[in-house]
Amino acid sequence: MPAYRVPAFLAELLHARSPSGYEAEAQAVFDHHVKPAADAYANDALGNRIATLNPKGDPVLMLAGHMDELGLIVTYVNNHGYLYFDTIGGHDLSVISGRRVIIQTAAGPVKGVTGKRAIHLMDEEDRKKVPKKHEIWIDIGARDKADALSRVSIGDVATYDHELELINGSIGTARAFDNKVGAYIVGETLVRLAREKKKLAAKVVSVATTQEEIGVRGATTSAYLVNPHIAVAVDVGHATDHPDCDNRKFGETKLGGGPIICRGANINPKVHARLLAAAKKLGIPFQNEADPRPTGTDARAIQMGRGGVATGLVSIPLRYMHTPSEVVDLQDVERCVQLLVEFAKGLEKGDYAHW
Ligand SMILES: [Zn+2]
Repeated sequence: MPAYRVPAFLAELLHARSPSGYEAEAQAVFDHHVKPAADAYANDALGNRIATLNPKGDPVLMLAGHMDELGLIVTYVNNHGYLYFDTIGGHDLSVISGRRVIIQTAAGPVKGVTGKRAIHLMDEEDRKKVPKKHEIWIDIGARDKADALSRVSIGDVATYDHELELINGSIGTARAFDNKVGAYIVGETLVRLAREKKKLAAKVVSVATTQEEIGVRGATTSAYLVNPHIAVAVDVGHATDHPDCDNRKFGETKLGGGPIICRGANINPKVHARLLAAAKKLGIPFQNEADPRPTGTDARAIQMGRGGVATGLVSIPLRYMHTPSEVVDLQDVERCVQLLVEFAKGLEKGDYAHW
C-alpha cells in the first residue's frame, strides 16, 4: 500500500507548537496557507485568524476550529535548576512524567524531560498514586538555578516532543490532533471554496480560534466580530472503539467511520439537518452523536454570541484525547473538508431567517 500523503498544511500545523495563549507558530502556518486564498484576512487581540471569502455574500457562515493545544507553563525554578510547572488545558497527570518536552523560549527551543521519583524509590502506597503536579518537574540538564534561568524564563511554555507519525495507512498519531485537524479543516475548506467562488451565495468566514482549551475564549471574541447567521465548529470527538469504553455510557463512534455530526441543545436543528443532507449527497460515511448540554467546544461560545447563532458541530473521531499520543484516521479529516465545502455551497441567500 502506498504511504498516505499528509497535506503539507496539516503536517505543518501539527508540527507547530501552540499552547493556549502562545499560538504564534500555528498562526504563521494558517497565515501562510489560508491568507492567499481569502478576500480579506484579519486577526484580533486574542490572536484569532479570521479569513473571509465572498464578503458581500448572504448568509454569513462562520467556520471555527481551534488551533491552540495543551501545554505546560513554567512557574518556578528551584535552586538545583529543576523547573516546576502548571498545566495548560485538561491534562491526565498520570501520563505527564517520563516525556521529552520542548520549551519555547525567547532564544528558541530548549529540550528537557519530565521527571519524577523512580518506582524503586517509592514505598508501596506511593506506587498506587497518580503524582500531583508539584511532584513532577522538567529537567533541562541545568547545573543550578542561575544556569536554568539563563536559558528559560518563568512563563515559558512546553509541549511534548511527539511528532506526527503514520502507524497504519491513513491512521496517524500526534500530540495535538486536538485540534490542529479542526483548524486545518476550516482553513482548507475556505481554500477549496475559493476555487469555485462563483457557486457560492454565502459569505464564508473561517476562523482559527485561540484559547479553546482554557474556556473557548477565542471563539467568544471572534464570533462577536464575525457576527454570523450560521456557524459550524470543528473539533475532535471521542472514538469509543477501543477497549474499556462502555458504549452504554459513551455512545458508539469509531475511527474511519467519517465525521461525527452532533445533535442536542447546542446544535440548531436546521444546521444539523443540512449537515446530514450534505453528507448523504456526497455519499461519504458519517456518524451521529448526541450531547444534551452545551458542548465542550467552540460551538458553546458561538451559539450564545450576540443575539444567538444557528450553530452546528462536526467532530473528527479520535482516540486517547489529551494524551501525547492521540490517534486519528486522516481519511475522516479529508471527508470533513468535503462535508463543509458541500454544506457551504448549499446555503442560499436568506437561508437563516427561520433557523
Ligand atoms: Zn481538547
